[in-house]
Amino acid sequence: MEPKNVLVVLANPEPSSFCHALASSARGALEAQGHCVTVSDLYAMGFNPVAGRHDFTGVADDSRFHYQTEQARAARENAFGEEIAREQQKVAEADIVVFVFPLWWGSPPAMLKGWFERVLAYGFAYVDGFRFQTGLFRGRRATFAVTTGGTPARFAPDGTYGPIEDILMPLRRLGLEYMGYEVSEPFVAYAAPRVDPQARQAYLDAFAAHAVAIASLPVAPVSREVHPLDLVPQDAWSRGG
Ligand SMILES: Cc1cc2nc3c(=O)[nH]c(=O)nc-3n(C[C@H](O)[C@H](O)[C@H](O)COP(=O)(O)OP(=O)(O)OC[C@H]3O[C@@H](n4cnc5c(N)ncnc54)[C@H](O)[C@@H]3O)c2cc1C
Repeated sequence: MEPKNVLVVLANPEPSSFCHALASSARGALEAQGHCVTVSDLYAMGFNPVAGRHDFTGVADDSRFHYQTEQARAARENAFGEEIAREQQKVAEADIVVFVFPLWWGSPPAMLKGWFERVLAYGFAYVDGFRFQTGLFRGRRATFAVTTGGTPARFAPDGTYGPIEDILMPLRRLGLEYMGYEVSEPFVAYAAPRVDPQARQAYLDAFAAHAVAIASLPVAPVSREVHPLDLVPQDAWSRGG
C-alpha cells in the first residue's frame, strides 16, 4: 500500500479535549501504517478565522473589497498572506484531509468555518466550471470526525436534531465535494462528554480504524501543471457559485 499524506485539521480550543484525543488516536494509527500525518491545530496555531484584506499582499481593487476577485489575483500572483499560503500548501500536498471538531450550534466552530473561507480560496480550491466530478481536487479523499453533546437518539431521522449527515451537508456537498473530494461517511462520537470511559475508548479505537481504512483506499494524483485560473476565461473570474 502506498503511504499517503494525511492532513488533520483540528478545531477545538482545549488540548485535553476529546477531539484532540481523536486526532492523536488517528495520527498514531496512521503513522504506524507508514502514512505521513500533518496536524493543523487551529487554536494552538492562533489561526485567524476572519476574512479580510489582511488575507492578501497587494490588492486588486482598493475601492471595493470583493473577496473572490482578491482571491483570484492572489492565486495568480502568489499573493496570499503567509498564514493562508502555508495552509494551502498543506492542502495541496494532502491525499486525504480529516476534519476533527465538536458540533457547536449545529455546525463546526467558527474557527473551522473561517479556515474553509480563507484557505479554500477561489483560484486555489475551485474555479468557474470545474466542480464536483471536474473539481480541482477530484481523486482525493476527505472525512469528518465530529463530537456531539447530543445522544444518538437526538440525531435519529425522527430525532430532535435530525441526522448528522444532513447537518454536515453544507461542508460536505457545497465545500469538499464541490472541490472534487471523495468524502467518506463521517465518524461521530455521539454524547462524548456523557458516555463512560469504555465507550470513549471504543470511539478512539473505532476512529483510528476508520482513518486507516480511508488511507488504504486509492487516491488519484492531482495535476497542477496548468494553473487553475488558466482553465477558465478571464472574464469568468469571480462569479463564484
Ligand atoms: C458553543 C457550543 C455549542 C454546542 N452546540 C451543540 C449542538 O448543537 N449539538 C450538540 O449535540 N452538542 C452541542 N454542544 C456540545 C458539544 O458538541 C460537546 O461538548 C463536544 O462535542 C464535546 O467534545 P469535546 O472534544 O469538546 O470533548 P470534551 O468535553 O473535551 O471531552 C469529553 C470527555 O472526554 C474525556 N477525554 C479527553 N481525552 C480523553 C482520552 N484520551 N480518553 C478518554 N477520555 C478522554 C474528557 O476528559 C471529557 O470527560 C455545544 C457546545 C458548545 C460549547
